[in-house]
Amino acid sequence: MDLCDINVLRALLGRHGFRFSKSMGQNFLIDANVPRAIAEACGADENTGVLEIGPGVGCLTQELCARAGRVVSVELDRALVPVLNETMAPFENFKLISGDIMKTDIDALVDAEIAPLRPIVCANLPYNITSPVLTALVKSRRFSSITVLVQREVALRIAARAGTADYGAFSLLMQYYTDPQIVFDVPRDVFLPAPKVDSAVVHCICRKDPPVDVDEQHFFRTVRGGFALRRKTLANSLMNEFGSAFSKDELAAVISACGFDANIRGERLTISDYAALSNMLREREK
Ligand code: SAH
Repeated sequence: MDLCDINVLRALLGRHGFRFSKSMGQNFLIDANVPRAIAEACGADENTGVLEIGPGVGCLTQELCARAGRVVSVELDRALVPVLNETMAPFENFKLISGDIMKTDIDALVDAEIAPLRPIVCANLPYNITSPVLTALVKSRRFSSITVLVQREVALRIAARAGTADYGAFSLLMQYYTDPQIVFDVPRDVFLPAPKVDSAVVHCICRKDPPVDVDEQHFFRTVRGGFALRRKTLANSLMNEFGSAFSKDELAAVISACGFDANIRGERLTISDYAALSNMLREREK
């Protein structure tokens, strides 16, 4: 069944009395080339176990099942369960979990459903939970890669380099845990219903070891501090997070000890700059 054929899709959804839900971020792909290209980009093979989030009617799921050892899909909308039971019936390596990914114990799911296969994530993510889902997925450290279709603006933020407008705390989080690459753009008109913005596929290769030597919690606290006041200097911005332990002059001294310009802004600092800053702050806090 070509689930991306608009007539097939409309008939299927009509037969099941399905109504689109905006709050569940439902935008289904209607160009078969896109799920095929996403499944290709995630690098699934028979040794891979895929976690998919939000299978919808299963257009990407089918492409994944054709490549991977096993596919486990978590779908929030109960109305899609009978639809998926129909569309995914031919695939023995598929398992549907009816539930909310935000309330799912990812560690337990990987242990129970995916291991010993190589766990990866591949999904057309519901746009309203993109950042919290990606945060939970990278922090779990259970996946070798995460390939997701997201709003283009989010893809740009994930892959952004220091000093660019898209660069922020979320870029540093994703780049600390993964090496992200934007693979291709996806225009809005290949979705039903069409969203207001374009999308892009980002392939994040999860790092085995962190790229910098830091105290993780303190590092992310420093990043948070560095971006707290985007328009202000780093010293001013850091006061938000470290104002109780340091005076502004002390923070300025830390910044210059790291070799940064006195008026530098947080958005200029690379991941290794933030690591150096965090380590220096920690040392002087003692
Ligand atoms: N993969 C399909 C559908 C993408 S739309 C396609 O590409 O066509 C996003 C899907 O995520 C919808 O099926 C929606 O019901 C589901 N979803 C939304 N929030 C969810 C959550 N918290 N947990 C799991 N699935 C969710």
